[in-house]
This record gives sequence, structure tokens and C-alpha cells, in this order.
Amino acid sequence: MDNAAYLDVALRLANADLAEVEDLRAALYEEPWWAERTEDRDLLALRPVAEGLRRVLAAAVAADRHGVQAEANALLSAHPLRPQLSSGHDEKQNWHVHVADPGQPPATEVAAAAAWGIAQGIVHYGLERWGRCAAEDCGNFFLDTSTNRAKRFCSARCANRVHVAAFRSRQRD
Ligand SMILES: [Zn+2]
Ligand SMILES: [Zn+2]
Repeated sequence: MDNAAYLDVALRLANADLAEVEDLRAALYEEPWWAERTEDRDLLALRPVAEGLRRVLAAAVAADRHGVQAEANALLSAHPLRPQLSSGHDEKQNWHVHVADPGQPPATEVAAAAAWGIAQGIVHYGLERWGRCAAEDCGNFFLDTSTNRAKRFCSARCANRVHVAAFRSRQRD
């Protein structure tokens, strides 16, 4: 995984509704090697991490430099990288690096990956490109990589929902 993938993990975690282990597994759909091993203890460990990520992102949306730095550093201190070189698992002998001890519960690695990812995201994009979905009942954070920086919704789904609702209310009037 690279820094962009770690940032993606951070965003998915920040936006996840972590009520059940299944929600966590769904948020980690691109990382089955973590998702498959998650248990209740990982859910409990990652809820405060998700809250920390939301604080970083809320500060970024508000262009609060001091807040971003303080909140991101709190996450980095609490969930430091402890890289481990792996020679591969089972029959797949491909070299890779784990961001933390893979012998620990997956939450340890997920938290370190997310903290690193959000910090690298801030390094890469600054504070200009973070947003919060304008759909009333959503509030997901997103990264706006469009050239005109005009993104208002986290997803096409939210954009469509709002546009359909606006269209219906115009029809009523
Ligand atoms: Zn591995
Ligand atoms: Zn949304």
C-alpha cells in the first residue's frame, strides 16, 4: 500500500458508521487482510481513531492550521508507525512492509495506517481541498481533487439524492 491508499483508509474510517463489526469490515473492503480478522475489540479500538480523524478533517475543512496539526499529531503519537518487513504469507512469498506488527490485532495496523495516511494527505494537498458533504443527512468528509474545486457532495449518490429532492420541491411549487 502507498500513501494514497493509507489516506483512503483514513477517509473511509472517518466516514464509517462504526456501530457493528460488520460496519468496520465494510469500511475496510479494499483491505480484506485486515477486514477478515477484525473483531469487537478492533471496533472498540478504532472508534476513537475515527473520531480523531474527523477532528483532523473538520479542522482542515475550516482551514484551521493549528487544529489540523494538533489533532493529526495526537493521532500520530497514539498510533505510531512501527514498520515490519514481511517475506510474504503462505504460498504467496511477496515482500511487503506492514505499518505495525502484524501479530497485533488488526486495529493496531489500521490505526497507524490511517494516522499516517491523513498526515500525508495534508502534506500532499494542504488545506484547500477538504470538504464536507452538503447533503443534509450525510456529513461525510471528502477530498476534492477536481480542477475547479467545486465538489459539494461526497458521492454521486448524495448529489443525485439532493438534486432529485430539489426537483420534486420545484414541481410542488
Ligand atoms: Zn503481510
Ligand atoms: Zn454525502
